[in-house]
Amino acid sequence: MIDLHTHTLFSDGELIPAELTRRAAAAGYRAIALTDHGDASNIDFIVPRIARVAASLGEAWGLTVLPGIELTHVPPQQIAELAREARKLGARIVVCHGETIVEPVAPGTNRAALEADIDILSHPGLISGADAAIAAERGICLEITTRKGHSLTNGHVVRMAQSHGAALVINNDCHAPGDLISLAMARNIAFGAGLSEREFELCRRHSEALVKKALAAK
Ligand SMILES: [Zn+2]
Ligand SMILES: [Zn+2]
Repeated sequence: MIDLHTHTLFSDGELIPAELTRRAAAAGYRAIALTDHGDASNIDFIVPRIARVAASLGEAWGLTVLPGIELTHVPPQQIAELAREARKLGARIVVCHGETIVEPVAPGTNRAALEADIDILSHPGLISGADAAIAAERGICLEITTRKGHSLTNGHVVRMAQSHGAALVINNDCHAPGDLISLAMARNIAFGAGLSEREFELCRRHSEALVKKALAAK
């Protein structure tokens, strides 16, 4: 299992990086990205601290730990600049908090994120076909999420990704220990969103490819 979208105490997660990564290793995870909620006020605080501990925690627990960020409720016109800054600060996985239908995310966030240097557009809500096509063209993964609320539009995201050729990844958006779900549950949620077994395996390969790319960027 790989989860490239999780939260620690540096934003609204319940656990510090050491415990989250330890629990992920104990749950059998092979890789995890720590992607706390960030905006212009805090990314210089969060990213270097996570980046400082990621490799040593990964070594200690026997899994890959990647420092990242989830740009969250950032005004669309600031997303590209903040994505660049996050990379400079050491983020290996850049996620942007997409237009979930359960929060008033600014319209235009999906588009601005897909035009920026990000890896994953999380919970993109009722993403348009045009935006899914940009994701496909730019090699940005769209997210199927196992998280309550955000997951309400998983079926739509799958349909848009399928019809426009965009890559999908499955993430847990883990905030608490109970969010570190099993591979079996992730598979069930993927099937519930309309993915086939083959498409589910493809999602896992996309996650693996992102991990490899992130490690190569070091
Ligand atoms: Zn989010
Ligand atoms: Zn999140």
